[in-house]
Amino acid sequence: MPNASSYKKEILQEYEQIRFRNKQLLNQRIQEIREQIPRIAEIDAQIRDLALDAALSHGEGATPEELAAQSQALIQEKYEILAREGYPSDYLSTIYTCKKCQDTGSVENELCECMKQKMIQRQYQNSNLGAKLTDENFKHFRTDYYSNLSDGKHELTPRANIENIYHSLLKYIDGIDDYFQNGTTKGNILFQGNTGVGKSFLSNCVAKELLDKGYAVFYVSAGSLFEQAGDAVMNKNQRENSQEFYQTVNECDVLIIDDLGTEMMNSFSTSYLYTLLNSRLLRQKATIISTNLSLTELRQHYSERIFSRICDSYLIYTIYGEDIRFAKRKAWQATMDK
Ligand SMILES: [Zn+2]
Repeated sequence: MPNASSYKKEILQEYEQIRFRNKQLLNQRIQEIREQIPRIAEIDAQIRDLALDAALSHGEGATPEELAAQSQALIQEKYEILAREGYPSDYLSTIYTCKKCQDTGSVENELCECMKQKMIQRQYQNSNLGAKLTDENFKHFRTDYYSNLSDGKHELTPRANIENIYHSLLKYIDGIDDYFQNGTTKGNILFQGNTGVGKSFLSNCVAKELLDKGYAVFYVSAGSLFEQAGDAVMNKNQRENSQEFYQTVNECDVLIIDDLGTEMMNSFSTSYLYTLLNSRLLRQKATIISTNLSLTELRQHYSERIFSRICDSYLIYTIYGEDIRFAKRKAWQATMDK
C-alpha cells in the first residue's frame, strides 16, 4: 500500500526536483540580466574578484573590512540598477516555491503545511474515489430529502433519523484521532438501508473528512473487493497490482466497502471477509461498510463470527425513507416549474 512513509519518500524527491528547477530558473534570470544589463555582469565579476582577494591576500593590500565594504557597495549598486530597470528586488535571490520551509518539506523538524497538503493530495489520488468527492461531501448533504412524516414502522421520522445520524457522524469524525491513537472510540461504521437512501453518499462524506485529516482512505465495491482479493490469494493473474490491491485493503487507515451483499457469495468470500474485518479491527484500522442487507440477513449470509464482530465494534446506522433519487428529482422539478 502506498502508505504515509512511502508517500513521504516520493514527496521528498518532489522537493528535490522543485529545488533543482528553482535553481535553474534563477540561473536563467542571472544570465538574462547579465546579457541585458552589461554593468551587472561587470559588477558580478568585480564582486567575485573581491571575494578572491579576501581569500588570498593574507593581510596585504586592502583590509578584509575594506573589501567587504567595497563588495557591499557593489551589491547596493546592483540593486539600484535592477530597481531602475523595473525588476522586483528579490529577482536575483534564491527562489523558493514555499518560503516557509524553503522547499524542504519541514520546519524545525515539523512537517510543513505544504508537505501535509501534498500528502493529502496523494491520499486523494490513491483513494479510488476519483472525482466523486467533489459532489459527495457534507456541503451537499441535505436532510430535507428525507420525509418529515412517520413511515409507520419506525419511531423517528426519516428526517429526524438522518439528523441524528448526521450529528453522530460529526462526533465520529471528531473522535477519529482517538480511535487511531488509543482505540478509545469506535472507529468502524455500518450503514444499513434500502437502495437509494444515501448510504454510499454518507460514507463518501465521511471519507472526504478523513482524507482531509490526512488518513489514507481506500474505497472498493464489495464485488470488486472479493474478485480482486480472490485473484491475489489464488495468485491467478500473477499481476503485481492484485498483490498491491490485497495489501492496500489490509493496510489503508480507512477501508470503505460499498454495497456489501451484492457480490457473488461463496466460501472464500465469507472466510476472507472475516479475516479482513478481524485483522483490521485488531490493528485498529477503520472500516466503513454500506449494505442493503438487514442485520438478520447479514447473520444469515455471512457467519455468526462476522455478525458479532460488527455488532460489537461498529457504529450501526439504519437509514430509511424514500429513495433520495426521487426526492432529488422532485426538488429539481419544483425549481423548473417555478
Ligand atoms: Zn513548505
